Amino acid sequence: MDFDLSAEEREIRDWVRTFVRKEIVPLEPQVLERERRGERGLSAEELKTLQDKARSSGFFGIQTPESHGGMGQGAVVAALIEIELGRSFVPFRFAGEADNILFSATEEQQETYLGPTIEGTRRSCFAITEPGAGSDARAIRTSARREGDEWVINGEKTFITGGHEADFVMVFAVTDKAKGADGGVTCFLVDRDRGWTSTPIDTMGEWGPAALVFDDVRVPHSAILGEEGKGFELAMRWIGKGRYMLPARALGSCERLVEMGMEWARNRVTFGEPIANRQAIQWMVADSAVEIEALRWLVLTAAWQVDRGLDSRQSQSMAKLYGGVKANEIVDRVLQMHGGMGYTRELPVERWYRELRLLRIYEGTDEIQRRTIARNLLKGHASVRGHLG
Ligand SMILES: Cc1cc2nc3c(=O)[nH]c(=O)nc-3n(C[C@H](O)[C@H](O)[C@H](O)COP(=O)(O)OP(=O)(O)OC[C@H]3O[C@@H](n4cnc5c(N)ncnc54)[C@H](O)[C@@H]3O)c2cc1C
Repeated sequence: MDFDLSAEEREIRDWVRTFVRKEIVPLEPQVLERERRGERGLSAEELKTLQDKARSSGFFGIQTPESHGGMGQGAVVAALIEIELGRSFVPFRFAGEADNILFSATEEQQETYLGPTIEGTRRSCFAITEPGAGSDARAIRTSARREGDEWVINGEKTFITGGHEADFVMVFAVTDKAKGADGGVTCFLVDRDRGWTSTPIDTMGEWGPAALVFDDVRVPHSAILGEEGKGFELAMRWIGKGRYMLPARALGSCERLVEMGMEWARNRVTFGEPIANRQAIQWMVADSAVEIEALRWLVLTAAWQVDRGLDSRQSQSMAKLYGGVKANEIVDRVLQMHGGMGYTRELPVERWYRELRLLRIYEGTDEIQRRTIARNLLKGHASVRGHLG
């Protein structure tokens, strides 16, 4: 059994590590300051400048196929990169990515949506959640009715990431009420100028999703992504594309947080000694380090299974669940180690505390991951012996 990285994986990981240390981490004080003033941490132009710098070294479209100008890297490399990026709270990502389901688009749609999304000239958003349908996505009620060669969309979507900034939406609507999610949901590609509206939602995080309203929005039949009635499968493919990626990013954040906690503990003296000498603090460090290590292998095993074409759904749900729960415990411990300073806005710990909380909610809540994991086991689709059998 080989737990090592290949030379190429190590080289890519090390390049990103250096990029984060030299280009991203120095921006942290400025990002914090802006966010404290209610401004965006990084402007669109600053993000683009950083992305262009990375692109000039070949870092563009990590998982985008080479045929579309990307690096065509697999899941393990993508996870390794995400861990490194997670070490900073600066909202940076490499350019050149597009939603996986846009690759199923027709040639004409690819020209209008996929290519520009990869190039960063158009922004997408993915809209399935509604006020009455979150975890229970099968309960969506947004409808699309056919009128000649057009479809008329009506309904409301909520919590849509990037929904206020997007140029187009991949929206999921019921096209056959009798069939519902079993063949009666269709995905439409809808430009903003077709008339849907968006309103930002204020959250405890530093960036907010949006609520979208479709009021008799008309699109041509050619706006269907994939096949009529096959939208629910597309939605599940989008959601399932990388459940290992969210915990990978959180893993990087936890590594950095524990390093910050240890640094603080070595220097903070109480009752004549650094708090690092106290068992109470040492146990926080030890528990966090064990959990980070366990999370690393859950994330990398799930990614490794994806690369081998194995059914990775169980491993991905485990990584997402464990990552969400443990990242929140770890950031809470690190905040505790900092005492009152941890609670202030002078340090970024409280920022991470708010950001990591989201991991337990979006792309499948903790409870929904547990439901998936238990169902797979109880129905015999997965074994407690894991993939080794
Ligand atoms: C910041 C943010 C960004 C998001 N981005 C997007 C996006 O881009 N696109 C999109 O479509 N959606 C997005 N979402 C929506 C997100 O996926 C949903 O919020 C999530 O799936 C939970 O749905 P809900 O909020 O309706 O909660 P509910 O489904 O109402 O759940 C409420 C509580 O009940 C629990 N629960 C529900 N059902 C069960 C059950 N069967 N057994 C046990 N417990 C259960 C849940 O785990 C949760 O604790 C985003 C949400 C947030 C907060």
